[in-house]
Amino acid sequence: MILVLLGPPGAGKGTQAERLAEEFKLPHVASGDLFRENMKNKTELGLLANRYIVEGELVPDDVTIAMIRDRLERPDCENGVILDGFPRTLAQAEGFKDILAGMDRTLDGVLYIAVPDEELVRRLSGRRICRRCQTPYHIQFNPPQNHRVCDICAGVLYQREDDKPETVRARLNVYRQQTLPLIDFYCQYGLLTEVDGSGDIETVTAALSEAAHGLNK
Ligand code: ADP
Ligand code: ADP
Ligand code: ZN
Repeated sequence: MILVLLGPPGAGKGTQAERLAEEFKLPHVASGDLFRENMKNKTELGLLANRYIVEGELVPDDVTIAMIRDRLERPDCENGVILDGFPRTLAQAEGFKDILAGMDRTLDGVLYIAVPDEELVRRLSGRRICRRCQTPYHIQFNPPQNHRVCDICAGVLYQREDDKPETVRARLNVYRQQTLPLIDFYCQYGLLTEVDGSGDIETVTAALSEAAHGLNK
């Protein structure tokens, strides 16, 4: 199964992709996590991406598409993948179609996680990320068991530079201008399912899981 989670920054894509990946025994591939890994390791790609990420802008499509192509060609994606944060522009959606065609695969569905803006700001401002494994937490809605330490790997939690209020505003604008058009795009192909993302984490997981099972029928 090849599944895309679409939604604004802070909607819960990362949180939910991890849960769906576990349920469906598929890898969770997050473009933002891949960029941050590269930034941490100071690779050429990381240095390039950093310029855009700190401003809340999108990394250029050609670079992003190439990175995802490499990732999808790895053997762990043989049975499918849960994609989080890609595609984010119409050009990326077209590039994604070509990647899949080249691999003789098809996209099963796009689950759109809808969350009102004021809730997004609450989620992003309290988000903390594990420095080691990138698991997201929330200081109020999903706190770690031990203050400032990851439950899974004991890595130290930090606040992403781009989760500060000025950059959040820029990211929400970028989302509206560049990513929202994907909703119509995937609707046209009959691939889009909207899921209410405003409830608590468990409720949203249940709704997404049900929607994902529905795609296989
Ligand atoms: P969010 O939590 O906002 O969904 P991500 O971790 O997915 O954030 O992305 C963080 C940043 O990484 C984005 O603001 C953007 O700069 C860059 N990025 C992630 N995915 C993409 C993509 N598909 N295309 C271009 N840039 C991306
Ligand atoms: P995205 O990947 O879409 O940017 P995340 O999964 O990182 O979103 O979630 C953003 C923040 O909101 C995180 O701090 C996360 O713990 C929290 N969060 C995710 N889902 C919910 C939810 N349903 N209710 C409350 N907080 C949530
Ligand atoms: Zn961790």
